[in-house]
Amino acid sequence: MDERSRHEEQFALQGRVALVTGSARGIGWGIARGMAEAGAHVVLNDLRQDALEPRLEELRAAGLEGSACAFDVTDEAAVAAGVATVVAARGRVDILVNNAGIQTRKRFVEFSYDEWRAVIDTHLNGAFLATRAVLPHMIANRFGRIIMIGSVAVQSPKPQIPAYAAAKGGVTSMVRALAVEVAPLGITCNVIAPGYIATEFTRALHTDEAFTERLMERVPAGRWGLPQDIAPAAVYLASAAGAFVNGSVLTVDGGFLACG
Ligand code: NAP
Repeated sequence: MDERSRHEEQFALQGRVALVTGSARGIGWGIARGMAEAGAHVVLNDLRQDALEPRLEELRAAGLEGSACAFDVTDEAAVAAGVATVVAARGRVDILVNNAGIQTRKRFVEFSYDEWRAVIDTHLNGAFLATRAVLPHMIANRFGRIIMIGSVAVQSPKPQIPAYAAAKGGVTSMVRALAVEVAPLGITCNVIAPGYIATEFTRALHTDEAFTERLMERVPAGRWGLPQDIAPAAVYLASAAGAFVNGSVLTVDGGFLACG
């Protein structure tokens, strides 16, 4: 094997099965597509099967491998059944990306308990449920890559996202706790912390010119991030090249946090 092939093999996901939650659009879809391009069979997940069908078509049209498994990451029984279905069909789950997320923007005192719980449930409890469901299979195979999508909001929170910042902080701590437990079993567990990425999630912000102008004073790269900016980081962490990265936070923010 020549140098170039050896290098490519380090970053390839050939033969891997990757489950990406919340991948009908946005960052999740970007990651799923990137992993499929790296050779993985990607299992798309979202709340609704009909939202996944067009994405499957896109994968097929590009000659990439994928399937779909809709479930709600906050529903314990549905998560267990979904992962069991994937394992029955594909024989394994090598890579899990806990990406599904929601946002509620309002002041702390205006949060109802239900609104607070919905955000924590989706980001933190959903990541717990999906991770717990795949781990026994990863442990049996002595291989696993778990990637949580965190946020720069953990270190640089803005007003009106207290539940989100708390949930992402929880996810970031959970990764460290899990990494020290599963590292001896051949499993890595890391966080990708995106900066400001233009998706549906941030539509109210990236369509607001005044907000964008203020934001760009703090983004040295001088632009909104795109899902394609996050995908290569996920491919790296999932690949052989990322084998010794464990319990880490990989920030992908165009320099936002470096601005203090
Ligand atoms: P997005 O475009 O809103 O995509 C999120 C996806 O998750 C949607 O397809 C959504 O489905 C799905 N989802 C929501 N609740 C779910 C559940 N209970 N079970 C399964 N799927 C569910 O958001 P995004 O910007 O790509 O964000 C993806 C992740 O990146 C989130 O964890 C977010 O916190 C994180 N993040 C985003 C940014 C950013 O600037 N965009 C920055 C840092 C971190 P529905 O459409 O049906 O609700």
